[in-house]
Amino acid sequence: MRKGYIKYVVIIFIVALTALGVTADFHRQSEDRRIQEFDVERFRETGYTDEELSLFCDIAFNRDGERIRKWETDLRVEIENIAELGDEAVDEVDSVISILRPLIAPLKIERVSEKGNVIVHKNVELTLINKPRQKPTYTNGIARINEATDHSWNINFAHIYDGPTTGTQTLMHEFEHILGLEHPMMLYEYYLTIGRSSIPQHYSAYGDWFRFHRMPYYISPREKAVIRMLYSPEIRSGLKRDEFIKRMGIELPASPI
Ligand SMILES: [Zn+2]
Repeated sequence: MRKGYIKYVVIIFIVALTALGVTADFHRQSEDRRIQEFDVERFRETGYTDEELSLFCDIAFNRDGERIRKWETDLRVEIENIAELGDEAVDEVDSVISILRPLIAPLKIERVSEKGNVIVHKNVELTLINKPRQKPTYTNGIARINEATDHSWNINFAHIYDGPTTGTQTLMHEFEHILGLEHPMMLYEYYLTIGRSSIPQHYSAYGDWFRFHRMPYYISPREKAVIRMLYSPEIRSGLKRDEFIKRMGIELPASPI
């Protein structure tokens, strides 16, 4: 009698768990559908040129999964090693924040002294940060964001490591990464802070070095537009690149790579 009772409890438990799993899965799928069926007309009201739209398709989608990854909560920037830094380094972070602030509205970005969700490590030796299994590569800066899960592509935590000899250009480049931007795959005639070549790691010729050092601290209006487009409320994390292109009716030029 008792054995039979336990059997029923186990069966009911399994049925309930399965039902819960199916419901959660159904909820996930319908949420994903809502993300894909974004409001195209309202997004168009953001205002952008064709050039900015194709740049958006190139750099706004995460390479891994070809989906949008962005913040949906306010950003609190904390400089981890602030006690070791001079005013200039802190001012540099504040300058980047003030450039980005109007671009990611309605989200807010501010500098905090504790409980940050964007941790900036400034003027640090980058070779020590590479994972042990990775080939040590020379780099000016590193940006790391939290991994996406099965049902969330939100960015909610990030680290920025900035080398000791780099300029504000690198810091801005890494900030663009943690907002969800990727390096471009296409070639552009204009300068891009998020472009790989914007921060030459090996100066192959004196001319390259000279051109780079003459470059004023600058973020192109096209990149500003892309950040504004990415942070428009119609675009949500998880939006797939092919769905976006289909719904927008975009014809993209073939990739040169
Ligand atoms: Zn980069």
